[in-house]
Amino acid sequence: MPVNAERIAGDIATIATFTLTPGHGAGRPTFSSHWRQARDHVIAEATHAGCHHRIDAAGNVHIRSASVGWSVPCWLAGSHLDSVPGGGDYDGVLGVVAALEVLRAAAEDGRHSIPFEAVIFAEEEGTTFGLGMLGSQGWIGTLDAKALTALQNSSGQNYWQAGKSHQTDPAQLEANRLRPKDWLGFFEVHIEQGAGMWKRKESVALVTGINGRWQYSVTLNGVANHAGSTGMADRHDALAGAAEIIAGLESLAPTLGPRLVATVGKLLVEPNVFNVIPSTVIFTIDLRADSDSALAGADLRIRSLITSAATRRGLKVDLTQTESLPAAALDADLADRLRAAATRLSMTTLPETTSGALHDAAILAAVIPTIMLFVASRDGISHNPNEFSRLEDATAATRLLYEAVSNP
Ligand SMILES: [Zn+2]
Repeated sequence: MPVNAERIAGDIATIATFTLTPGHGAGRPTFSSHWRQARDHVIAEATHAGCHHRIDAAGNVHIRSASVGWSVPCWLAGSHLDSVPGGGDYDGVLGVVAALEVLRAAAEDGRHSIPFEAVIFAEEEGTTFGLGMLGSQGWIGTLDAKALTALQNSSGQNYWQAGKSHQTDPAQLEANRLRPKDWLGFFEVHIEQGAGMWKRKESVALVTGINGRWQYSVTLNGVANHAGSTGMADRHDALAGAAEIIAGLESLAPTLGPRLVATVGKLLVEPNVFNVIPSTVIFTIDLRADSDSALAGADLRIRSLITSAATRRGLKVDLTQTESLPAAALDADLADRLRAAATRLSMTTLPETTSGALHDAAILAAVIPTIMLFVASRDGISHNPNEFSRLEDATAATRLLYEAVSNP
């Protein structure tokens, strides 16, 4: 079998050394020198295996066997190399390495003409410019050049300024756009980033859908007042209101759908002084579910939870929905292709699941047939230096990918 576990392990270990924060996990913000080193490593490995590459205007890298021209309709597989600060060594990296290994295995097998392309998407995580999946969204056109100009990193550079030395080009974005007829389908191998598969002792799972994500920013305005002389009945405490809403959300979420989750991950308190009743609280809500109807139903319940708590406490509410990414069903034919590949490889089971996290696959699914494979995450830990997946599971997923794309 040409898919080589040692090579996969070697790439993951090498890419892990490209970090801003050695000893404290992956630190590879998009367009940083460490991110670029990781990208260059993958390109060098593929070039060594007889591949050519091109970089599209959004900054995504495309790699094919030199025997496969750029106009040949291809299978596509890949993921991302950027990380959250203090991230793990597997998130995104595994999907890129699996696609790279398919190119190397095909070359070693003498199957240079398999219509297959590996892709490295730019800026998936959303931590560099405040919005995620920018490379894939720029490529399919859900974000245009102007939208990407409006996004800035922490040094105040917009996407194009930060990406210029990495071959991004706003003038070519339109011309480089993905054309669906050029693609047979997209496969993304990714770690699960949850505990389900690890608990169920599953190695590799077929992902049949990706949860949608709606996000909100909520501002509660009360009245700042003296913490000593204002009686409990006379207060309009914005933070107490936020606390009631947050606890209410935690109880409400499990009643709204089997795979629905709601999180308040960010809170700003004003004046944030220990002897002043809080006047203003701004917090975020991140809501995810496996169907758009579950999201819409939850939206109504959450709005009413917020309104009733605020009204009772005499607080003013401003609620803005900042994102509404729909839930994405993945492609049934590609799922069948992977099931058939698993049978040919005598894999005894290929369990099925849905993805709670968003991935580039959710973006691609809107325009071309798309499917994902999950590899189990130890104890479900991710976005953390302790993130870990077993090499044998990563190798099994890569073999499945190779089998699926190398069969007519
Ligand atoms: Zn990822």
